[in-house]
Amino acid sequence: MKIAKGLEMLEIHGSMFGNPGVFHPTLIWDDSEVVLVDTGLPGQLELIREAVEKAGVSFDSISKIIITHQDMDHIGSLSAIVRNSIRDVEVFSHEVEKPYIQGDLTPIKMTPQRIAQQEIMLNKLPEEKRNEITKIFSNLSAKVDITVEDGQLLPFCGGIEVIFTPGHTPGHISLYLKKHKTLITGDALNVIEGKLCGPNPQFTNNMEEAVASLKKLSKYDIETVICYHGGLYSDNANNRIKELFSV
Ligand SMILES: [Zn+2]
Repeated sequence: MKIAKGLEMLEIHGSMFGNPGVFHPTLIWDDSEVVLVDTGLPGQLELIREAVEKAGVSFDSISKIIITHQDMDHIGSLSAIVRNSIRDVEVFSHEVEKPYIQGDLTPIKMTPQRIAQQEIMLNKLPEEKRNEITKIFSNLSAKVDITVEDGQLLPFCGGIEVIFTPGHTPGHISLYLKKHKTLITGDALNVIEGKLCGPNPQFTNNMEEAVASLKKLSKYDIETVICYHGGLYSDNANNRIKELFSV
């Protein structure tokens, strides 16, 4: 979905733990840079390529990828995109998330229980499919080239401001595009049935911290919110965000 000139919210359909859903990576571009924010599930390279091309941007022109956090639905196709790009793509994340994205540490939500659950699901699949998924999952980690911190202004596409919003994961970031008065929330906020909601307690590492992070968003003039889960929200966003951290 086109949000503005040089700003597109992608729609990537997928299924996580058996639940179908739509993910929303964001594409931001100008004449010099093409920036992708988050990268879908493992195995979604071709869906992302298609969505980027549909937005009128060449997949091979992606120059930078910003990862909001380490969860599998955000980093899933990162390594595949980097490996299959004809150019050197620079990868950005917060320093805290870097070792998880690079595979130096096990992602915090990959608990022994979840790993066991995945194995059960995998064992139910036909051998060929099982082998295909195992191959994809064995090749997920990607190098983070540049770490970013709270308040940093990345000088691409009119300026992308990093907002450190820990809670959902310890190094979660959101991004603010002043030029478009748009907030890219990762999983710090969600849209559920058209309503802007706080972080999902079921998947949030530290709820208290996550709600406290929302307070930081109040200093921005936000007209449009892009949530990775749930998509677009534009109904008096500043007020709604205030309600969420005031409860
Ligand atoms: Zn997510």
